[in-house]
Amino acid sequence: MESLKNKVAIITGGAGGIGIETAKLFIQEGAKVMLVDLDEDLLKAEIKKIGGPNIRYCVADVSKELDVSRYVSETLKEFQKIDIFFNNAGIEGVFKPIADYPEAVFDKIIAVNLKGVWLGCQKVIPKMENEGSVIITSSVAGLKGFAGLGAYVATKHAVIGIMRVAALEFADRKIRVNTVHPGPVNNRMMRSIEEQISPEDSKIAQENFEKTVPFKRYAESKEIGEMVLFLASDKSKYITGTKMIVDGGMTIV
Ligand code: NAD
Repeated sequence: MESLKNKVAIITGGAGGIGIETAKLFIQEGAKVMLVDLDEDLLKAEIKKIGGPNIRYCVADVSKELDVSRYVSETLKEFQKIDIFFNNAGIEGVFKPIADYPEAVFDKIIAVNLKGVWLGCQKVIPKMENEGSVIITSSVAGLKGFAGLGAYVATKHAVIGIMRVAALEFADRKIRVNTVHPGPVNNRMMRSIEEQISPEDSKIAQENFEKTVPFKRYAESKEIGEMVLFLASDKSKYITGTKMIVDGGMTIV
């Protein structure tokens, strides 16, 4: 039986690696999906590949209040309700020590990774059906420090606080709120970080990163999506306010 039959999901960062692979899993399981992203070309290309009546998109900036209200109203117009909210859009910023970190990049990363998650919780959850599920994408960078990624690490720790408070505030409606914590994932974001560390040879950077993962490889975006699917489905209906780590063992030590 389809585990998300008749459910409606919003996925922010929906054109990115984790977002689109999660959307495919949701659709296979019977959900209708609204993808939200800044990148319209990528959204169009991905939706063309998936096809069918159960996927729509909205071009919106998660850090802008009016855009957030618009993706909520477009979802309700298109699909009439919201059961699942994958609050996932994020950016990596630049790879620099705190002492050299540019203020403008700090402000931008706070706007997208922190305020975007906050606004999503503020505008989407009150409109959700009872017994819905919210999944916020944090990272292993929400659980430990990574030199050079200070602003990113700060935001990924901070969203755990939002998750915990939202889990408490919406518990009376049995809306569950959890975070997912991927380790390095084999997609655009990780390539961008590797290139900044070692632009001349990102393969060396990749090998160095992989050494820090006991499984000696990056996750595939779909492997993160499988955890999100579990959290979205009734199989996790007693799980709220918690952190689900999908990292090939990276945070064991
Ligand atoms: P990605 O870069 O492929 O996807 C991110 C998507 O977010 C992109 O499509 C981008 O256009 C979109 N986006 C960026 N700013 C936006 C904004 N202001 N409004 C709307 N959309 C915006 O990378 P991904 O790995 O799919 O990232 C998804 C989430 O996973 C992020 O929160 C990221 O921090 C987190 N994460 C990624 C990794 C990794 O190694 N890739 C590891 C841990 C956590």
